[in-house]
Amino acid sequence: MRHLQTAYAAFYSKWAEKPKFKSRKDRQSASFMRNAFRWDGKELRLAKVEKPLSIRWSRRFKGDPSSVTVTLDQAGRYHISILVDEEVKPLPPVERTVGIDLGLMHTIIPSHGEPVDNPRYFERDEHELAIAQRKLARKRKGSKNREKARLKVARIHARIADRRKDWLHKLTTRLIRENQVVCAESLAVKAMVRNRALAKAIHDVGWGELIRQLSYKAKWYGRTLVEIDQWFPSSKLCHTCGHRMDRMPLSVRRWTCPKCGAVHDRDQNAARNIESEGLRLLKVSA
Ligand SMILES: [Zn+2]
Repeated sequence: MRHLQTAYAAFYSKWAEKPKFKSRKDRQSASFMRNAFRWDGKELRLAKVEKPLSIRWSRRFKGDPSSVTVTLDQAGRYHISILVDEEVKPLPPVERTVGIDLGLMHTIIPSHGEPVDNPRYFERDEHELAIAQRKLARKRKGSKNREKARLKVARIHARIADRRKDWLHKLTTRLIRENQVVCAESLAVKAMVRNRALAKAIHDVGWGELIRQLSYKAKWYGRTLVEIDQWFPSSKLCHTCGHRMDRMPLSVRRWTCPKCGAVHDRDQNAARNIESEGLRLLKVSA
């Protein structure tokens, strides 16, 4: 009822489409408020379920949960998320700052240091996924075997998503830990995904999710994330002298500045520009 309320409120305020009925085949979820579960610091009991839930904890928490949500995903896995107020201690300040650019061969190009390789989980699992999908397509609708094949496909999807998420969390935590200011282009995705050839590689990386994680982790740990307008010409500017090139086709990986003669790696130069621009914006707003 509460979710329906939220959905209709959003609909009448014209933020969202009219709520639709959910499919029984999609992800299922149920939320339990304070009076519908019991937590004694060790065991969790849901209303009308006698035994405590058998949970494999991904992390522990302190404090008093205000709600508990149980989900069943399409791969047939149950997850439980617990809403709890937690005070996160900010990290001690550091001097370092960084600009990050999204490359094609590598996921993340920091303005200083080594590029972080794109693990390409999707590519690795793509073959297996394709086989599973082909098998699924051959199964008769409504049959038991079709359900089995569907589960197989869902499990591969889930595995890809889990690995990607884990990798991204480790990366964003590291970036936030090591740097006081992180500068990144805001949603370069929008412009780039229009290019179909690049679209898959970028989805593989999850730029939007990366920015989302950097943003809340920065808040938690007392760091600053500066987002730069996606139209900032990070690739076209020479970081050494500021000269602006008219064109910078994607095929150009290295180039020499005609004005100052500096030789640039395309992505690293862009990352440095992003960092300088971010630090400039930060000074202006301070
Ligand atoms: Zn130059």
